[in-house]
Amino acid sequence: MDAAEFRRRGREMVDYVADYLENIEQRPVYPDVEPGYLRSLIPTEAPLEPDNYDDIIKDVERIIMPGVTHWQSPYFFAYFPAASSYPAMLADMLCGAIGCIGFSWVTNYCCVSVYDTVFFLCSSYFYVCLCFQAASPACTELETVMLDWLGKMLKLPEHFIAGTHGHGGGVIQSTASEATLMSLLAARCKAVRRVQETNPERLEAEVLSKLVAYSSEQAHSSVERASLIGGVMMRKVPTDNTYAVGGGMLKKMLEEDRAAGLIPFYFCATLGTTSSCAFDHITELGPICNEENMWMHIDAAYAGSAFICPEFRPLLNGIEFADSFNFNPHKWLLINFDCSTMWVKKRQDIIGAFKVEPLYLKHENQESGLVTDYRHWQIPLGRRFRSLKMWFVFRLYGIEGLQAHIRKQVVLAKEFESLVRADKRFEICAEVVMGLVCFRLKGSNELNQLLLKRITESRTIHLVPCQLSGLFVLRFAVCSRVTDSGHVQHAWRQITQLSCELLQSDH
Ligand code: PLP
Repeated sequence: MDAAEFRRRGREMVDYVADYLENIEQRPVYPDVEPGYLRSLIPTEAPLEPDNYDDIIKDVERIIMPGVTHWQSPYFFAYFPAASSYPAMLADMLCGAIGCIGFSWVTNYCCVSVYDTVFFLCSSYFYVCLCFQAASPACTELETVMLDWLGKMLKLPEHFIAGTHGHGGGVIQSTASEATLMSLLAARCKAVRRVQETNPERLEAEVLSKLVAYSSEQAHSSVERASLIGGVMMRKVPTDNTYAVGGGMLKKMLEEDRAAGLIPFYFCATLGTTSSCAFDHITELGPICNEENMWMHIDAAYAGSAFICPEFRPLLNGIEFADSFNFNPHKWLLINFDCSTMWVKKRQDIIGAFKVEPLYLKHENQESGLVTDYRHWQIPLGRRFRSLKMWFVFRLYGIEGLQAHIRKQVVLAKEFESLVRADKRFEICAEVVMGLVCFRLKGSNELNQLLLKRITESRTIHLVPCQLSGLFVLRFAVCSRVTDSGHVQHAWRQITQLSCELLQSDH
């Protein structure tokens, strides 16, 4: 494909995308395919000769779309939103075009490998420093500034903002799972060093075996996975009747564990749990973590976006106690996946934990303190120019536009909540604070499981369940940018109709 064809195909693709999104509600939100459906539709091998572009595009509708769950459909009410907007998609195109791997501000060394050359009289690889080259200063610098913009929108404490005299800063990770893992690994490293400073005779393996991390029993599964990957114990703190962790329960567990010779080192608080959007009491938990020398990480994957609205910002009070904080603009801030923003109070905690400096990545500015090498802040080396999406979206929506988006979705959730509350056959299972409503038919878990099965099979709306206090609960999350009151009313009619059929049958 040359530039001329790319221009033509690009325009066609933009039209296809706009048509897809404009007409998405005509498609069944949930696919009707059996596992393995796709393998039978495509060849077993990649083509030897180039395929024809028109055929590929036809196959998108024939092969791909039938198996797509349409997350951008206004009838998609499952999980949490997967943010999407035209400005973010355009920025992603540009990111693809620039195609840089912005792992550091600059690399001074451009390296090539030379194999077995007479010139070097050696039979292995040599790295040869040829010239001074930039990896992509704009990629790094725009990211730092965007994280500052967003941090200021959230009114984060100054120490998280890079462009101040503080020691912190922000980074884009791919997912909240990665942010949690990074924070846990950094905390683990810090804890081991601290113990060994005062007890140099203690071996790292022995210290590691005593470390304990904590999270809410309602925390996302990625938090438990972080402890498994990090090779440390994790204890789940029971929640109160709002599904939130309070200070008392954590304190009790810490006392027990210290008495047993364990070393508490990390607590992951959740603001906006996946099941019910509950908020751990970080104003109580933060001081405890600080007193106990424990790293407090805050996972606000979904709810974090709402903190740009002054009316939701009080839920973030206590952030000043946190060592790290993360949320996903790719959930609720109109920035397409992936864009998970993470701030740390002391960037040295994270950079210093995993620093490896091969010659081919070194550059003269790295020790100057003027530039950030994001490769030290994350697990992979390579990274995309994701801050372009933030820049486009922030500029084209403005803070007011983004606030309006959040508020609209919360109003829609409240509308759905009112519909549920008005029907005596149903109950609301958790306080509705943001865009998530947890509800169920009064009755057995089996009844609610059947209801959800029928909803899924109808393929007209899509919801997923959760478990709260042992009950099977349906989650209704307002997700799509284009969902409006009509879609919410339609969804409720669908749910009540299927419920009626279910209640009238003998299941
Ligand atoms: N934390 C919470 C509270 C979530 O709700 C989710 C996903 O919904 C995650 C973490 C995982 O997010 P990610 O897919 O970005 O790792």
